[in-house]
Amino acid sequence: MDRAAKMEETPRLEDYLEAIYQLVQEKGYASIIELSDRLEVKPPTVSAMVSRLAKGGYLEHEPYRGMRLTKKGESVALSVVARHSTIFEFLSLIGVDRETAYQDAEGIEHHVQPKTLRSISALVKHMKENPDVLKKLNE
Ligand code: CA
Repeated sequence: MDRAAKMEETPRLEDYLEAIYQLVQEKGYASIIELSDRLEVKPPTVSAMVSRLAKGGYLEHEPYRGMRLTKKGESVALSVVARHSTIFEFLSLIGVDRETAYQDAEGIEHHVQPKTLRSISALVKHMKENPDVLKKLNE
């Protein structure tokens, strides 16, 4: 992936929560260093954001013991993960290559309205149930 292009946008609150959620799923814990690697952001910046998120009630952070999402944080994380996967699936189905689909999903996931997401979900379902539609589209 083009690192410069990826660095252009600062990760948002939602990206932090999403990354913490994923790290905990994958490794059982999330630390400042892990987050810094995943989000390609310097550790002091990550630290500051993690404090903000803790203040906002999105996570609990114990020094040296890592962090975990609160209910509030987890519900935001799950919502981003769901938006991401729906958009990614939709773009993949219509023939967009994986990397582009991933990058676009990263952007769109923060802006898409629930109504639009529901329509995209319905369309994804329709396309999966009717493979001939997809075949025609990707010819
Ligand atoms: Ca994201």
